[in-house]
Amino acid sequence: MRTNYVLQVCWLIGTWAVTSMLNVPGRGDEPTNWRAGVADVVITPQESIWMAGFGGRTKTSAGVLNDLHAKALALEDSTGTRLVILTTDIVAFPRFLRDEIAQQLREKHQVTDAGFLMNCSHTHGGPVIVDDFEMDVIYPLTADQKEVVVRYFATLREKLKQVTDAAVRDLRPAKIGYSSARCGFAMNRRLPTKNGYSNSPYPAGPVDHTVPVLRIDDPNGTLRAVLFGYACHNTSMVSDNYRITSDYAGFAQDYFEAGHPGVKALFMIGCGGDQNAYPRGTEELSSLHGRALATAVDAALLPAAQSVTGPLRLALTDVSIAFDRMSKEQLLADQAGKDPFSARRAKILLKILEEKGELRAAYQFPLQVIRFGNSLTMVAFAGETVVDYSRRTQREFGNTPVWVAGYCNDVFAYIPSDRVLAEGGYEGGGAMRYSVHPGTFAKGIEQSIFDQVKLLMRQTDPAK
Ligand SMILES: [Zn+2]
Repeated sequence: MRTNYVLQVCWLIGTWAVTSMLNVPGRGDEPTNWRAGVADVVITPQESIWMAGFGGRTKTSAGVLNDLHAKALALEDSTGTRLVILTTDIVAFPRFLRDEIAQQLREKHQVTDAGFLMNCSHTHGGPVIVDDFEMDVIYPLTADQKEVVVRYFATLREKLKQVTDAAVRDLRPAKIGYSSARCGFAMNRRLPTKNGYSNSPYPAGPVDHTVPVLRIDDPNGTLRAVLFGYACHNTSMVSDNYRITSDYAGFAQDYFEAGHPGVKALFMIGCGGDQNAYPRGTEELSSLHGRALATAVDAALLPAAQSVTGPLRLALTDVSIAFDRMSKEQLLADQAGKDPFSARRAKILLKILEEKGELRAAYQFPLQVIRFGNSLTMVAFAGETVVDYSRRTQREFGNTPVWVAGYCNDVFAYIPSDRVLAEGGYEGGGAMRYSVHPGTFAKGIEQSIFDQVKLLMRQTDPAK
């Protein structure tokens, strides 16, 4: 039907006029006139607060090493379709927070649900976040300390709404380009030993050293902002650090911005679930890794960027990923066992079991695909996806540049590949004892996610 209609009209007024007027998808090779907006807000806690990410801390934060930021990039293609990317220097965030911001963007700025992507840098130098999947199990918060966390969260959610709003209001003509470089400090952290997989440096393990960079320029070619990625845990500072810090990712943004006055740098973490920055453990090393990553972004900007074209095509879906649920007997044993995390978790799960009669069978995993015409595709995975997700996406869909992000839209657990799930260890299921999830993920998780990637790729295909 559509083909006949197009042919008919072409006969009357010509192909160019049709594609311009009707925005027929498939014109991705033409440059698009973009509008872009950028905004930045400091989200550093104003009072001493329990810090997120590590279970071994014994007190609240003391001082600030470097500020935490939330930054937003708004893009609008020539048809008026909008995309807002929000990056945050926090450890994790619940789905409802993402949805709340998405709702505001929809109501105020006509951004569709699929047109909003929220990412967190996963710094373990920031505050505990309300309803972080680990909150009630991993952190021994007193009532007063919990109140500080709740107070911080209230401020945070307002600031996130403000910064996304400000980015859309900042929309003005822009050019967009894509390039990439490489940076080498991320190393696989799943060392095979005779007792299983140890959380230790494993130089022979899989990595993704790509540093994808989106550059936003004024029409005259003046750089306004860069969005860059890297697949590595943002934990180069460890549990003995009590100063608030955005870690290597924050240092990288700060170094880049210092070297390019007036330019905003936004960091979107990749599939770094099983990747660490090595060596690690001191402020100097954290700063050094940040410097290396900022230098890689500079390197990516050396060659002429590949022009990024529209139209934007956006898709977001929930993938139902099943749990291999623990039995009541296992939970009772955990509750009586020596491990305090497993015991706290078991207590919560047994209460749910008693009240509801069963534990949840699956989790709804948000998956997002963003196409920039034929020039660039972003695949945004939720949770702490391991590097296999990035490598497989590149392998299967990498004909045109593909940017793979992790920690997007809901950060609720490690997301193992089938390989990592079968191997076990921390990311394969061990870390679940710090959460309130009812078991490890069930076999087949990777395929169920990739089936949906394929579907969303088809849905957003610019040729259709
Ligand atoms: Zn993590």
